[in-house]
Amino acid sequence: MADKTSLKELCFKIPKAELHIHLEGTIEPEMILKLSKRNNIEIKSKSIEEIKEKYNFKSLNDFLEIFKEGTSVLKTKEDIFDISYSYCKKCKEQNVVYTEITIDPTLAIKKEIPLKDYYEGIIEGMEKGKKDFGINYKLIYCIIRTQTEEEAFNDFKLSLDYKKYFNIIGLASAERNNPPDKFKNLFEYAKKEGFNITIHAGEDGPIDYMKQALKYCNRIDHGIVSYNDIDFLKELSDKKIPLTLCPVSNFKLKAVNDLKNYPLRNFLKNNVLVCINSDDPSYFGSYCADNFCKLVDSIDLNKEEIILLAENSFKCSFLSDKDKEIYLNMIEEFK
Ligand SMILES: [Zn+2]
Repeated sequence: MADKTSLKELCFKIPKAELHIHLEGTIEPEMILKLSKRNNIEIKSKSIEEIKEKYNFKSLNDFLEIFKEGTSVLKTKEDIFDISYSYCKKCKEQNVVYTEITIDPTLAIKKEIPLKDYYEGIIEGMEKGKKDFGINYKLIYCIIRTQTEEEAFNDFKLSLDYKKYFNIIGLASAERNNPPDKFKNLFEYAKKEGFNITIHAGEDGPIDYMKQALKYCNRIDHGIVSYNDIDFLKELSDKKIPLTLCPVSNFKLKAVNDLKNYPLRNFLKNNVLVCINSDDPSYFGSYCADNFCKLVDSIDLNKEEIILLAENSFKCSFLSDKDKEIYLNMIEEFK
């Protein structure tokens, strides 16, 4: 039997896709300080330690408040380029070879970063990451669920000028009291326009939100609350709806009380297609491979499961079948 050290090496070495990651959730404390100086934006925290001290979250909503300080330093295309390229560097370290990265144009609008600069900063950063580190990517346009549908629709329409850059629509932010049905018209429009849809549901909201999400989406982000609803898990499995799980995020935001109780195997046992992701890694201190390693420690994730989850990460993606095949072949040598 492989020991934990060699299993963790495998977690890093095996090629993976990361499908649930928020660009603005990758800003490391060093970067927050650097950009606050560069842009002359005063922030309360004066050192890396002071920033990190705040990363002791009570809940999703508590996290979203602290997240605001991190994004307050973003101002220019260069900033957006820097955070995009830095994430690619992390991908290289973690052996994430493909990523579907959630971006937040509404934040850019609110902060008066011109949308053109926001999109071009991301594309130029990601393209440089592709060239330097071989990281491939797609972008997920994120609807912010605390907005009204009308506000969200107006923001979305502004981004249609840049739709060549993204072909996936997501829904995120404070979940409770903001169910998927709130954006019914927007999702139906996006679906008609041919976008893929992935929806955050069942993170700290009820399973009913996941049921609503199924009306619109082809993937659910999180979905952790459904772990013991056998009938619903069967429905997810039958409909081939993947879940992008984020173990460390769930632990840090108190969706699970202890990673030792992480219900990964409930999903696997019920044939639900799940993959492992980092969500907002700089805030939770764990990128993609780190999340795998935490599961090796907490629930004794074994070699077969690591390989299966790496395969699933590509199967859960919005890549074409042909591209999935190319990545899945890269995993063969690890079996
Ligand atoms: Zn998320």
